[in-house]
Order: sequence, then C-alpha cells, then structure tokens
Amino acid sequence: MEKTLVLLKPCTLQRGLAGEIINRFEKRGLRLAGMKMMQLTDDILNEHYAHLKDKPFFGMLKDSMMSTPVIACCLEGIEAVQTVRMMAGATNGRNAQPGTIRGDYCMSNQQNIVHTSDSPENAEIELKRFFKPEEIFDFTPSNLAYLYALDEL
Ligand code: UDP
Ligand code: MG
Repeated sequence: MEKTLVLLKPCTLQRGLAGEIINRFEKRGLRLAGMKMMQLTDDILNEHYAHLKDKPFFGMLKDSMMSTPVIACCLEGIEAVQTVRMMAGATNGRNAQPGTIRGDYCMSNQQNIVHTSDSPENAEIELKRFFKPEEIFDFTPSNLAYLYALDEL
C-alpha cells in the first residue's frame, strides 16, 4: 500500500491544532505508520525545499519551518499520496476550498498547516529524508476489510 509524508508545520503546533489535523487523517481511514517530533535544520530544508531555492520567500519559509519543532507523519492507504494532497487543499490557504485542511484552518500562503508529498516518487524520497527504516511500522489495521472492498486490496 502507498505511503506518504505529512509534516505538521510550526504554525500547527503553535496554534494547538496538531491533534485535530492528525484526527482528520485517521478518520479518513489512513493508517499512521510513523510519527515523530523533530527540529528541522537549514540542511534538511535546503534539500526538502530545493525546488524553491530561487524564490524570494525561501529564507522566510526556512525560518518559519525552524521556529519550533514539527511533527512528521507517515500515512498509509491506497493512493494515499493523492488523497492526502487533496485533503490538504491549495497551497495558499486563502484559495483553498472549505472542507480541505488549509481551507478550514488557515489564511496564509506560507503558514499553511501541513506539508504533503506531491507524487509517489517524491513521497518515497521524502519519507527517507525524515524517517529511518526502523521508524516506519508495518502492521495490518484490524478494520481493513471495512476500510476497503476486497477487490481493492
Ligand atoms: N510558499 C510560500 N509562498 C509561496 C508559495 C509557497 O511561502 O508563494 C511556502 C508554503 O509554505 C508551501 C511551501 O512553500 O507550503 C512549499 O511550496 P510548494 O509549492 O511545494 O507548495 P505545497 O506543496 O506545500 O502545496
Ligand atoms: Mg510541495
């Protein structure tokens, strides 16, 4: 089954929303396969946000991502990458649809609650960036037969 990375950003921890956001993913039926609080560094952010290194907001973005620890989550489900990405909504919270996480919890283009992997290829790379192999746990949810039809599994 597919795994994806979610980072609960410093704005989420500062605003006391971490539990509420994790709860949305759990309620959707995504399995928590890994979770840890960690202080990000300039090095890991240069790698993680390499696609944005020439943007004027790059420095500010890195500073905001280092302002408190983040909570990194590995979530698993069928087509988890796309599902989690759709749950997050548009990057700019002001453009995000109500019902999405960003559309329900933020008003900012930067302080936008979560990072989510944008493709299965990037999810694999990003999970290796934030988790050691032994920090990802594979177990079968006891309600699996009620989360999916047998022909989907
Ligand atoms: N970001 C920003 N200003 C912008 C665009 C993006 O501060 O104009 C920040 C924002 O926090 C976003 C992160 O950079 O989540 C990564 O940008 P990306 O385009 O990868 O968006 P995402 O995949 O998070 O929706
Ligand atoms: Mg992105």
